[in-house]
Amino acid sequence: MDYKYTVRYSKRKTLAIKISAEEGLVVLAPYNCSKKYIDKLLKEKQQWIEKNYKDIYELRTSIGDRENIEKIMFLGKVYNIKIRYSSLKKSAAALEGDTVTVRLFGALEFNEENRIKALRTVLRAWYAEEGYEILQQKTSRYAERLGVKFNKITIKDVKTRWGSCSSLGNINYNIRLIMMPEDVVDYIVLHELSHLVYMNHSKEFWKYVESFITDYKSREEKLKRLSSSVKLYWKF
Ligand SMILES: [Zn+2]
Repeated sequence: MDYKYTVRYSKRKTLAIKISAEEGLVVLAPYNCSKKYIDKLLKEKQQWIEKNYKDIYELRTSIGDRENIEKIMFLGKVYNIKIRYSSLKKSAAALEGDTVTVRLFGALEFNEENRIKALRTVLRAWYAEEGYEILQQKTSRYAERLGVKFNKITIKDVKTRWGSCSSLGNINYNIRLIMMPEDVVDYIVLHELSHLVYMNHSKEFWKYVESFITDYKSREEKLKRLSSSVKLYWKF
């Protein structure tokens, strides 16, 4: 095993490890803890680290600085951004292989600041449009499976929630949800639709969710784990 890690010493009594997009692998250790104990813990937790390190690591190496939009995250994958100057009267973005190509109208005359502004606007609109289409499809498909009827979906720019569902069957999704891997997106869709059966988070609700997505707990963990990466990637 050859992972780079940081040890953070504090007044705590036990050893622990965590992985985040901002910091990578971090060992939380009591002040007097020896390297031998840390190595032992890393060895014991090897499987967990391997499982959790890969997706975070890939994201970590490609985030870039906050201002520069060189990469974009979409359905759990990271794509390069290529800018093309468009002579058509419209700016647009499209996924082509491992690249999101952004065609900017009139951008040749833009200065750097306006070019970034235009890029942001186009990419944000692209997220909203793609997000709507994908989430609309998934919501319809799962609603059919669950035998429930929803009214409409809306893509919203909210900071705190991934989704919500009203008793009238109006479902809101966070625009950033479309950055998450597909299994996580599916889980959120099913979670919100399940609220049309149980308007709470009771035991029955979770049992119901589990009957459709048996590994919902690990998807929920993945959602939490990737939340910070998504925040770093959201530059719009
Ligand atoms: Zn809920």
